[in-house]
Amino acid sequence: MSHYLSSLGLVSLLICLQITVSEAKLNKDIKDVVITRGLRHTNQDQQIVAKAIERANLFLEERKIRLSPSWSNVIKNNSADDDVSVYLVEKRGDDTTTPAWVPKDCHCVFVNPKFLASWAANNSKGIGRMSIDREYFLTYILLHEVGHISKHTSAKVFDESTMNLLNIDKTKEKANEEDADKFAAELLRKYSRQSHVNSASLEANWVISELSKLSWNMQAFRTLDEFGAFALGKPSVYFDNGYSHPNLAWRILKVNYLIQQTEATQALLNSFEEARQRGANPEPLYNYRE
Ligand SMILES: [Zn+2]
Repeated sequence: MSHYLSSLGLVSLLICLQITVSEAKLNKDIKDVVITRGLRHTNQDQQIVAKAIERANLFLEERKIRLSPSWSNVIKNNSADDDVSVYLVEKRGDDTTTPAWVPKDCHCVFVNPKFLASWAANNSKGIGRMSIDREYFLTYILLHEVGHISKHTSAKVFDESTMNLLNIDKTKEKANEEDADKFAAELLRKYSRQSHVNSASLEANWVISELSKLSWNMQAFRTLDEFGAFALGKPSVYFDNGYSHPNLAWRILKVNYLIQQTEATQALLNSFEEARQRGANPEPLYNYRE
């Protein structure tokens, strides 16, 4: 009998422990910024993202902001710098449409490595295209996200419901994206032009070169894959896709101009904007005479 009772006691103890463990996990999940947003953690591309974070931090020193990989056991910096955790996330039946974003009400950045990898691969494909290095491109994206944080404009994730609504309207969300791009461009310009060469100036130039490659690839897409689009200002090529983000090719041209501020980068930007206007006010290409 006593043997029976002690077994019963052991079973109840195990059940209690099980419940405590489940409760602890539940409490952890409730507090987990990724899980509470309906996403999952992933280990994909940890090394690539860690290197991009390290590089972005080179340019953020004076801004007193420091990005930290959420998966690393490295003790957070205890200086006066503002720590911003970067999380690697994925979504079941992934329908994310952006490689990274600042989630609402979180002092953090989410990176979707799966989307980033496929996006970089797609933008490297085709005749005359150069291969995009996602680690360097991510460095730019991280600086852009820090721009959102420092300007307190949590980025709106691409809204699927308004995508495929081609337009060139000005919206507050698009202006926030431009501000975040400007923040990143100013840092890259500053570090790439400093008079003494160091790792920050070299790395800034590598990131800029990646942006130039992307701009080139997008130009190749417009002239080779979408031959004729320029003359017409074809909306699917030149307009914004939705109301939250400006056209990506336009953004890259604008960022390149903000960084380099040369006649050539200005001319490329102007010619894109003129094409947009042609798309908005279509006129016959040729005047037909009777
Ligand atoms: Zn943004």
